Amino acid sequence: MIYADYNATTPLDPEVRAAMNEALDVSFGNPSSIHSAGQAARRLVDRARAQVASLIGAAPDEIVFTSGGTEADNLAVLGAAASAERKGVVTSAVEHKAVLDPCAYLHKQGHPVTVLPVDRHGRVDLAALEAAARADVALVSLMLANNDTGTLQPVAEAARAVKACGALVHSDAVQAAGKLPIDVNKLGVSLLSFSSHKIHGPKGAGALFVRYGVRLAPLVHGGRQERTLRPGTENVPAIVGFGKACELARTRLEADARRVAALRDHFEAQLLTRVAGTSINGGSNRLPNTSNIAFAGLDGEAITINLDMMGMAVSTGAACSSADKTPSHVLVAMGQSTAEARSSVRFSFGRDTTDEDIDQATSLVVQAVNLLHGARS
Ligand code: PLP
Repeated sequence: MIYADYNATTPLDPEVRAAMNEALDVSFGNPSSIHSAGQAARRLVDRARAQVASLIGAAPDEIVFTSGGTEADNLAVLGAAASAERKGVVTSAVEHKAVLDPCAYLHKQGHPVTVLPVDRHGRVDLAALEAAARADVALVSLMLANNDTGTLQPVAEAARAVKACGALVHSDAVQAAGKLPIDVNKLGVSLLSFSSHKIHGPKGAGALFVRYGVRLAPLVHGGRQERTLRPGTENVPAIVGFGKACELARTRLEADARRVAALRDHFEAQLLTRVAGTSINGGSNRLPNTSNIAFAGLDGEAITINLDMMGMAVSTGAACSSADKTPSHVLVAMGQSTAEARSSVRFSFGRDTTDEDIDQATSLVVQAVNLLHGARS
């Protein structure tokens, strides 16, 4: 199979698997127990916390482990809006549902919520953001990179623009982590979410960076784990795997990003010349691994199904929304009609993608498109 759906999830790295196996076999203790079995597990969690923090330039104590990106986003949005006197939230129309849905929930509870529009490449307008950041705003949430198109948002500039209003700034970095260098201090954010399974770690682990001094309300209540922000006995093997995945991502980031960008650019250049009516969504400032391609007049889902039958995995957008028939809300927010948005396919490459995969992928897409043209004539 040619796997070109790395934005949905990534395969477990063998080194991550080995680290998890060791944790499963040797350290079954509860990290909160004071006996040596518990303390052995605690040391593994502490080491993972340092590895995770190091990927984003944070201090280990600023990391709160969660079950993944969705929970980290929910904790940021709902936790910030609950604990502040300020009630407002500002976000963008192209955020992942893990941000948009808690914002919609807050809106139903009476919070003022502003959802900012984006331009045709999916970039938010900084002047509009600054205008929306009034004194009653508790949180501004703007993703670092979009999951459907790879488009990068000007998060550092946004954090500077809204500083005067005193709101917390959160960034969903689930897609950016492991693909772009991230430094929470350079970005100037107070909260940042990321997820293990997008960077060759296991599913069921993620983290929210919570800057020292920032007060959040927890979503669940119980013990004292994770500074009481996320109580419950830690999922030690998954956290260990996440830590290892972050360490690998940090050491391999530059080389991986350069190699994958070259493969992705070659793929796009080939497709644009070989398939009539194709264009690239998301502008030029994108993640190095993502190609969201419009096939004018064709159905992206039909292309996806044809490719699957030929042994290639791609998607029409976020995996968690692919069960519903509505087109990508990201492409619609970029001003595309329903038909235009439905004509697109997301290709996302990664660590294991080879030159041969790209050549074969191009041929398969050409075949899949020809099949659809043949079926119509
Ligand atoms: N945010 C973005 C931008 C994502 O792409 C995803 C997953 O696709 C999430 C949040 C949710 O992360 P998780 O699958 O770890 O819950």
